[in-house]
Amino acid sequence: MFEDETVDIACPKCGHMNTILVRELEQSTEAHIVCEGCKAHVKVEAAEFQNRLHKIEDEVEAMETEARQAGRPKPRKGDFQI
Ligand SMILES: [Zn+2]
Repeated sequence: MFEDETVDIACPKCGHMNTILVRELEQSTEAHIVCEGCKAHVKVEAAEFQNRLHKIEDEVEAMETEARQAGRPKPRKGDFQI
């Protein structure tokens, strides 16, 4: 579901936000990236992001539930917002 999603990893040294694919994190327990800002090697713990991903999934689920509930009651013609 999040295969093409990206996450921003803040470099602990310079604070530069490095964008990496979630897919890369799912393949192993940790990933190593080179900061685009200061070229430092940054180790990324996948577990940390899996927590974040679960939170995002929960939020998406909540939004979907909300949308379903909002879509159900008494639709009126000409009252739709797209
Ligand atoms: Zn950096």
